[in-house]
Amino acid sequence: QSQELSQVQIDYHAALQALVEDGTRMVCTGRMHTDRICRFESLCYSTEAEEFVYFHSNSSVMLPNLGSRRFQPALLDLSSVEDHNTQYFNFVELPAAALKFMPKPVFVPDVALIANRFNPDNLMHVFHDDLLPIYYTMQQFSDLDLEARLFFMEGWSEGVHFDLYKLLSNKQPLLREQLKTLGRLLCFTKSYVGLSKITTWYQYGFVQPQGPKANILVSGNEIRQFTKFMMQKLNVSLEESSSEEYIVVFSRTINRLILNEAELILALAQEFQMKTITISLEEHSFPDIVRLIGNASMLVSMHGAQLVLSLFLPRGATVVELFPYAINPEHYTPYKTLATLPGMDLQYIAWQNTDREDTVTYPDRPWDQGGIAHLDKAEQERIIKSTEVPRHLCCRNPEWLFRAYQDTKVNIPSLIHVIRQTVKSKPGPKKQKWSGSLYPGKVRDAKCQASVQGTSEAKLAVSWQIPWNLKYLKVREVKYEVWIQEQGENTYMPYILSHQNHTFSENIKPFTIYLVWIRCIFNKNLLGPFADVLLCST
Ligand code: UDP
Repeated sequence: QSQELSQVQIDYHAALQALVEDGTRMVCTGRMHTDRICRFESLCYSTEAEEFVYFHSNSSVMLPNLGSRRFQPALLDLSSVEDHNTQYFNFVELPAAALKFMPKPVFVPDVALIANRFNPDNLMHVFHDDLLPIYYTMQQFSDLDLEARLFFMEGWSEGVHFDLYKLLSNKQPLLREQLKTLGRLLCFTKSYVGLSKITTWYQYGFVQPQGPKANILVSGNEIRQFTKFMMQKLNVSLEESSSEEYIVVFSRTINRLILNEAELILALAQEFQMKTITISLEEHSFPDIVRLIGNASMLVSMHGAQLVLSLFLPRGATVVELFPYAINPEHYTPYKTLATLPGMDLQYIAWQNTDREDTVTYPDRPWDQGGIAHLDKAEQERIIKSTEVPRHLCCRNPEWLFRAYQDTKVNIPSLIHVIRQTVKSKPGPKKQKWSGSLYPGKVRDAKCQASVQGTSEAKLAVSWQIPWNLKYLKVREVKYEVWIQEQGENTYMPYILSHQNHTFSENIKPFTIYLVWIRCIFNKNLLGPFADVLLCST
């Protein structure tokens, strides 16, 4: 790889002179370390100190210039996992003049994206924390194109899913360990540091029990744009209409097993009159898995990271997640959250084993595979008696691990019953028309006219025009919401109306000022913005 880097010709002396004279330049986006991504020119990295270096000169730029707040707690998160104290980025500062006494810099000519992978051996983490964020960070900055090079600084070796990371750019990603072989002082000509968190939907429970992120900003559309890219890179093309519909059982072969898998497959095939196949990460290549999931009508699997691959399912397909005994499906929802993102168009079903008879526990295994033999007797007994793992923080809760690594004999009638509550006829990809939901614009030209009848009665005639975008859309149902608020009061009277004018007479007083708020609603739940408030005096 060192050869690969030096192949691109750069004028070494010009580059060195520029570094000495101009120093490092940094401009970042984001107001907090948790939403910051920085663009650098001439950011350097000492492979001996294992630190990034910022060189000050008369022309260097540092925005934001945080002073010592740069260490409270860091300039930015290197991974997409928020505010994790093992994932912070910072640099040390030196005057450019110090370069005279330092090892000769080796320049990295490629535009670099510098980040941490969070847990590259776990498929959920690979997709959710790394691949999607890297893909969309690259979409955010136009010079992070397919010729950019990824630098993974977390310190792990390639890991079992490295081939997936390689798909994101045409250049081989480099790991922290490999940087040593390139030189003692590396200087990135142009680099971006940090990852966008805009696509992540789950928090793993480091500060509060795990669950969906509070403010999810991604929809199925962006997930599917990403999977389309990945499928192209994997050379997976989906059969359009022709082929037979089928169900996929994604099995685990090492732990958290389905003990009666053969029986399960037979039952599913019979119930839904569909071919049913088994796949596993151990027995299928990744492109094969993606192809098989990409055409499936239903994916059935034990809770576990392999379920993140439901992001490759076609629209309209069903995800069935199986939970071992004592594990409440509502407490572990990374895959439910994914499947139910707006626009993913997947049906999600959770099934839980509620029968102690049908579970096999492994108290004597090592702690990280769910063993509890290292705990004191009373605690072991409490765990064994418990019928539900209480909510807990990540990542070493022994009761959670004990239950998570049980094997399960799936109660077939109970499972079929749960699936049948949602899947009434045949499951599977419905040839859906585009169901993208578009919101109304503001109503226009709102007017009001008041009329007073005597000293106690008044009427308010309000009219408005349709939102500008409505004339280009086919909308099933258009309604208007009008709020009438007496000036100075903090309550209002709401109305839902079908027409573009209405005369209000109930509770309208003479010689009063009313504020009238109007917005358009498409199809019951697509609420538009309110138009500028109307001031109406009776
Ligand atoms: N894994 C697998 N088969 C197994 C057990 C695990 O393919 O029998 C995969 C799993 O999908 C994940 C990784 O190995 O990508 C780590 O699994 P672990 O049980 O640690 O994590 P979890 O699946 O609970 O997130």
